[in-house]
Amino acid sequence: MAEIIDGKAIARDLDEKTKAELDALVAAGGPRPGLAVILVGQDPASEVYVRRKIKACEKVGIRSLERRLPAETSQEELLAVIAELNADPQVHGILCQVPLPAHIDTRTVLGAIDPDKDVDGFHPVNVGRLSTGTGGIVPCTPLGVMILLETVIDDFVGKDAVVIGKSNIVGKPVAMLLLERECTVVVTHIYTENLPEVARKADIIVAAAGAPGLVKGDWVKPGAVVIDVGITRIMGEDGKEKLVGDVAFDEVQHAKAVTPVPGGVGPMTIACLLHNTVQAAKAIAAGPVQDTSDPYADAPDRSLIYGAGEGASAD
Ligand code: NAD
Repeated sequence: MAEIIDGKAIARDLDEKTKAELDALVAAGGPRPGLAVILVGQDPASEVYVRRKIKACEKVGIRSLERRLPAETSQEELLAVIAELNADPQVHGILCQVPLPAHIDTRTVLGAIDPDKDVDGFHPVNVGRLSTGTGGIVPCTPLGVMILLETVIDDFVGKDAVVIGKSNIVGKPVAMLLLERECTVVVTHIYTENLPEVARKADIIVAAAGAPGLVKGDWVKPGAVVIDVGITRIMGEDGKEKLVGDVAFDEVQHAKAVTPVPGGVGPMTIACLLHNTVQAAKAIAAGPVQDTSDPYADAPDRSLIYGAGEGASAD
């Protein structure tokens, strides 16, 4: 039987660590971390998510600030709210709940958030920092995936990882994080040929496709670790709605470990949001630092990057 990775318990542990870090920051005279959540319009699913995030903030002692705006808010008005929150020293994290109404350009809005307060990690600056391994805020769900993997994998170096799905919010950042840990990463998607064959080679499978039961038993090598990010709401045989993942859970019991849905990646996402908010507050409180990391540190031959002869002595 595969080990079931208990996302709920791991998320609770992370919340405790986050609370301890927050308490230490405040006790040392630092600011109480604050998270601003912007909700435009009245999308019922978004309302539920926002309520959950605000309740979770209370649990660890993060000050939460809700900015509810009517659906007809113009893009300029929304950008003005973001500018105000960017400048507010009491706010360390800003989250703009998506989807936004159709007349608002989501990319422009998310790009207007101060990257140091971008606790979702979606700002291009944070995406760039992640892909160059130069710090930054890591998106919540991918960070949660890595924390779950760390509970069952001691050494990532040289492991074959297959990521199913290449979205900007899950697949691509997960791939970057696995690369950082020296895995050999294959990113797959709807047009990938022979996906079962590709998946069968993997020591680690991260499924983030939103395709219920996609990953079958014979896609999974014995002893592999399987993380199921997918969440789809379907009608059960009993006529009740239920949440299902991308992995045929009962068929993958020959895996080393697998996450359930629900109770796997889901609880980690909010726990990582709280973690990111406290980290953002700590970083802002510490003030700007000079980035001395070298994005080319891994490069075997610098002449390929800087051009032959550059930096070399004249002889
Ligand atoms: P998306 O729709 O943006 O991207 C899906 C990706 O999967 C695409 O790259 C697509 O090419 C690929 N894909 C779709 N069907 C496929 C198939 N049959 N075979 C191979 N590849 C396929 O989705 P997303 O926003 O990345 O979310 C993916 C899933 O993860 C969804 O079910 C979503 O609900 C879930 N999700 C869960 C959490 C969480 O907190 N647990 C957070 C974010 C997303």
